[in-house]
Amino acid sequence: ADKLAGEGAKKDMPSLLNLNIMKSLTTEGIRLASATQSQIYKAIIKQRILIPRKETTINLEYIKGAIEEATGMRPTSERIWLSLRHNFFAKSIREFYWKTMVGAYYLGEFWLHTQHQKDRAICTECNEVETMKHILTECMVSGQYDIWKLTQKLWETTEEEWPEPSYGMILGCNLMEFKDKEGNPNKSLRRFYTIIVTEAAFLIWKIRCE
Ligand SMILES: [Zn+2]
Repeated sequence: ADKLAGEGAKKDMPSLLNLNIMKSLTTEGIRLASATQSQIYKAIIKQRILIPRKETTINLEYIKGAIEEATGMRPTSERIWLSLRHNFFAKSIREFYWKTMVGAYYLGEFWLHTQHQKDRAICTECNEVETMKHILTECMVSGQYDIWKLTQKLWETTEEEWPEPSYGMILGCNLMEFKDKEGNPNKSLRRFYTIIVTEAAFLIWKIRCE
């Protein structure tokens, strides 16, 4: 085991991502809801994560679909994971995104599998199973509607068109592409977009948890 660990340590982060991240991140073995991003990451690297997670696959598909529709390019799973690791995200937001991606929050379906707390699965105001998608894009009481309207106003100061904040777009925002007048990728615009979208999503989540 030590020999294997040593071999793992020799590899740099991108190749670890290449080799392991997809297989590992669709799986579980640590207590995800209470884990920090770095704990999740360490567990991934040590391959202690074991049980397949449906949410991760579904979230990846949402992102691929949304980004393909908006940019014409379908991102690979690896690119998606890398897009979530950028250090310009605040740490709390990075953790929120990672936990959402791996389905680490106790929401909706999690409670349906419990014996005595099944009612916690439902958003009582909307009478829908409460998923992160519901909270961020559909809920009548999470504040999502107003927060996205305000975020849109902020974005429109750039005179760029506002991409509809679908669930896949919210999760994959750092893969959006914007062009400058010469048709070259505009990185500062993407950075601005990513920051306002991730901040808005995290704010909606925090309001939901109050
Ligand atoms: Zn709701």
